[in-house]
Amino acid sequence: MPPSLKVVRRHVGRAVRIAAKLLAGVLALTFVASVWGYCRVAPEYPAPRPVVNDVSALNPIAVAQVIEPVTTDEIVAAVRTHAGPISVGGARHSMGGQIATEGALHIDMRRFNRILAFSPAQKSITVQAGATWRQIQERIDSADLAVKIMQTYANFTVGGSLSVNAHGRYIGTGPLILSVRSLKLVLADGALVDASPTVRPELFYGAIGGYGGVGVITEATLDLAANVRVAREHVNLPIREYRRWFLDHVRGSQGAIFHNADIYPPGYSRVNAVTYTETADSVTIPDRLIPANQSYRANRRMFRVISDWPFGKTLREWVVDPALFAGKQVTWRNYEASYDVAELEPDSRARTTYVLAEYFVPVEQFDAFVPRMRDILRRRRVNVINVSIRHAKADPGSLLAWAKGEVFAFVIYYKQGTSRGARARVGVWSRELIDAALEVGGSYYLTYQVHATDAQFLRAYPRAPEFFALKRRVDPTNKFRNKLWDRYYEGLSPDVRLRLDTTAGYRRDEGQTFLTHPEWYIVYSSDEYAAYLKDRLPTDFPYVVSIGQYWHSYRETGAIAARDHPFNLPYTIMLWVIGISYSAELAIKGVYENTVGRFTGWTAGHAQSDEDRYAADVAADYGRFIHIRPWYEYRFWPKLRGLWSDVPFFGSHQIRKWERKAFLTLEYGVKALYATLIQTVTHTAYGSQDERMQLVVTGWVDSLAARVPHATPLARLDSVHTLLATPRYDAFVDAMREIAAVQTAAAIVEIAGNREIFLTGVAPREWEYSSSVVEPAVAYTLPLPTDPARKRFTMRVPVRRLMALLRAFAREPRAQVDHVYDY
Ligand SMILES: Cc1cc2nc3c(=O)[nH]c(=O)nc-3n(C[C@H](O)[C@H](O)[C@H](O)COP(=O)(O)OP(=O)(O)OC[C@H]3O[C@@H](n4cnc5c(N)ncnc54)[C@H](O)[C@@H]3O)c2cc1C
Repeated sequence: MPPSLKVVRRHVGRAVRIAAKLLAGVLALTFVASVWGYCRVAPEYPAPRPVVNDVSALNPIAVAQVIEPVTTDEIVAAVRTHAGPISVGGARHSMGGQIATEGALHIDMRRFNRILAFSPAQKSITVQAGATWRQIQERIDSADLAVKIMQTYANFTVGGSLSVNAHGRYIGTGPLILSVRSLKLVLADGALVDASPTVRPELFYGAIGGYGGVGVITEATLDLAANVRVAREHVNLPIREYRRWFLDHVRGSQGAIFHNADIYPPGYSRVNAVTYTETADSVTIPDRLIPANQSYRANRRMFRVISDWPFGKTLREWVVDPALFAGKQVTWRNYEASYDVAELEPDSRARTTYVLAEYFVPVEQFDAFVPRMRDILRRRRVNVINVSIRHAKADPGSLLAWAKGEVFAFVIYYKQGTSRGARARVGVWSRELIDAALEVGGSYYLTYQVHATDAQFLRAYPRAPEFFALKRRVDPTNKFRNKLWDRYYEGLSPDVRLRLDTTAGYRRDEGQTFLTHPEWYIVYSSDEYAAYLKDRLPTDFPYVVSIGQYWHSYRETGAIAARDHPFNLPYTIMLWVIGISYSAELAIKGVYENTVGRFTGWTAGHAQSDEDRYAADVAADYGRFIHIRPWYEYRFWPKLRGLWSDVPFFGSHQIRKWERKAFLTLEYGVKALYATLIQTVTHTAYGSQDERMQLVVTGWVDSLAARVPHATPLARLDSVHTLLATPRYDAFVDAMREIAAVQTAAAIVEIAGNREIFLTGVAPREWEYSSSVVEPAVAYTLPLPTDPARKRFTMRVPVRRLMALLRAFAREPRAQVDHVYDY
């Protein structure tokens, strides 16, 4: 080489090195500045929304706005002008989210509480619905009158009590509706209407026990009774003798006013039956009402002892109660009906909480139900504090009557944890107890936690379809909503139902939403693999962890599907076939890459050869492909040809190059042959699948349809419901995201005839799902194999809550939904 050329080369080399150093310096500086700047940026969160919760503290629900009206006009105006969901709340002692739904306008009725008319002569009172029993008692006591029917405690509002059709410990009465003369209601269009057994009776029998689904109860006129003196008597007897004893001594007794019998856990074999009978004797407690604002610290301690101490329950049965019930006690009826729920309130409900559940059983089925209840409570180790037996006469005609005939009520007061697992366990035994009540012709109370399946709900409340028909008529846009009705109210008319059920290809197996998850696990694993190969050799890819996670997903989702859905044999076989194929591939690769691959990687100084880069491109292309099509349709042959035609045979890292060429030839060749085989088998077994999903939505706005390209409106089913078609797989997820983002008033009613759907997302490992949109929701989580600082979480979601959930996730900067699994 001439000397002048050498000099030029030296100068160019120096210039390049200086430029590279400068570039590296600039890059380093930019990096430091970026990190510093990044750390200084405070994370942004959406403005917190008001949260409505009930006394159990288990159901915090973020609503859009809370109003506290004091006049009827304010309620009428709010209902008339508000287009979105509206929920109504009284004293908030229902325990399953019956008072709110996400994003609703919540009408807090507690300040709407005036007493409007009181007629001692007619023994009646008219009150605004936010008034409490206590307020009524304070007003009527001086006239020697008492509330005719109410609950044990006096803190509840009249509107809330009417809406659950409450009952008390009274003898000779039953559901609250038996004491109601008339109501006023604000309907969804803002109309203020009267309802009674003779005036618009359908509204009367729908709104009482209707959990705020028909309209806002604004006023009620109620029967009153004489405020007599009552003497307490109690008898402790074996539970097997109770029914007969009750029928002989209490049921027909003229003087019995209150009665209840407490069953003692953990034996559940004895009861303490307490009766308050009208008497002319002088009172032993002179107070007309229990003094308000008492301190109930001693009660709180006692409940803690009963629930937490090893012999707490025995102590109560043999020491506390005998002392409490010793001696003669005569009180006023109003005194005995003015208990304050504060006596039950624990110091904290953060980690554990006290909750109620209630089951109604025909009187003649008492002895059949008790052993079943005892068995479930013991087997499930429920921390029962008390089971109180009450009696009620038949309901005169409420659409959602819990007393279809004369019944005994079993009110279970128990302590539970607030964790997801604890709630799920409560769900299990609650459903078992509901089944036990249904088997003997009974029912359960809707005011407590919402655990019943659709089938259980419909069996317990067989006139629910009539109630729903009424709701559709008076609330066509489903304005009045809460967690109870979000769960059970389908809103579809029988005509629409029939039309959907006879639409070809509409209904798909719900269990499949869970079963498709393992398949998608492989898709996401392929994405991870492709991302990993981008700048690394495949040697250290976590092969074993990936295999384990596939089977973990299979086991978890298979168990969910098997619990609530018929066994899907073809799909299960398919999951085994792909699971074994996937595991074998990873196992072979894992061994090979950690031996031969590791050696050739070492010869190349852990740098990528041309073939490594080619393999990374193919992996990325394959990853994209299997998001849309089945893996066996991937064209491996052209990739094999490209390996030989597009990648030179000679080059740097020669040993690595040749080894990779040989290995990839084998990999693509085997996969091409295997794919052809699977494709043939699959087509023979299943034929071609319908590539379209159909779903029903409310609140669809046609003028926004162009901004939802992945969903096609097929038909207006009625004034509220629209039938849509979407593609499947990834495009289905796009459709869901678009609807959530663009059609902000839309809610899905059902997808392919189904009420539940599965979704997954990715979040930092320490992230915890805390929204109340769906609760409890996270089924399980798995750390990402190539990035254990992050995890994939899985959720079971009622389809009605899917839009709300996707909107909530859109506001959550740390967690992203990556897939919604169609059926
Ligand atoms: C400790 C405890 C003891 C209980 N004891 C008994 C008992 O002895 N007997 C019994 O039957 N029940 C009992 N319950 C259940 C209780 O009766 C119900 O939860 C009742 O709804 C409580 O009234 P509330 O004012 O708190 O209603 P909330 O819980 O505020 O509301 C209940 C339902 O009524 C609707 N609602 C409220 N106000 C209106 C309105 N003005 N118009 C339309 N809808 C409305 C709400 O939307 C909701 O669906 C008890 C509950 C607790 C926690």
